[in-house]
Amino acid sequence: MDLKQYVTIVPDFPKPGIQFKDITTIMDKGEVYKYATDQIVQYAREKKIDVVVGPEARGFIIGCPVAYALGVGFVPVRKEGKLPREVIRVEYGLEYGKDVLTMHKDAIKPGQRVLITDDLLATGGTIEATIKLVEQLGGIVAGIAFLIELTYLEGRKKLEGYDILALMQF
Ligand code: AMP
Repeated sequence: MDLKQYVTIVPDFPKPGIQFKDITTIMDKGEVYKYATDQIVQYAREKKIDVVVGPEARGFIIGCPVAYALGVGFVPVRKEGKLPREVIRVEYGLEYGKDVLTMHKDAIKPGQRVLITDDLLATGGTIEATIKLVEQLGGIVAGIAFLIELTYLEGRKKLEGYDILALMQF
């Protein structure tokens, strides 16, 4: 299946000059969403993962069906103030200013093999921060899976040494 034909490119969203890759036109078609998910499930099986971790919100859309298919857990990574119990946190740089991501302190057991999921790899900042959270708890990042990689932003460079699957490249 040629997944690219189901991505809608929206020019100048959310601001001028950005070519937004809208994946909702993958998700709203059952057979296409399942095809994309199945590719990641197969990858996760090869990596022998114990748990899936994804940053809000689109990391959930990709990671949750993968976790369900494998019968493993899903751990949400969220913005500060959203998780109800004790968290670990990491600050990361945005284009303007800083943001914080958090994860429940007991979400991952040392030695667990983790698959990180998100919809899209842009600069890699979000996933770099997510890796820090996983490793702080002793998790092993066994693989990282995206639907889309924006190769011109060279996010892969930030994630050197980690195994990456991207179903599409733009
Ligand atoms: P980054 O931390 O730069 O790799 O980007 C993180 C998040 O920003 C990705 O998970 C996407 O959800 C979103 N994002 C960045 N650029 C785009 C784009 N061109 N189209 C759609 N989403 C994007």
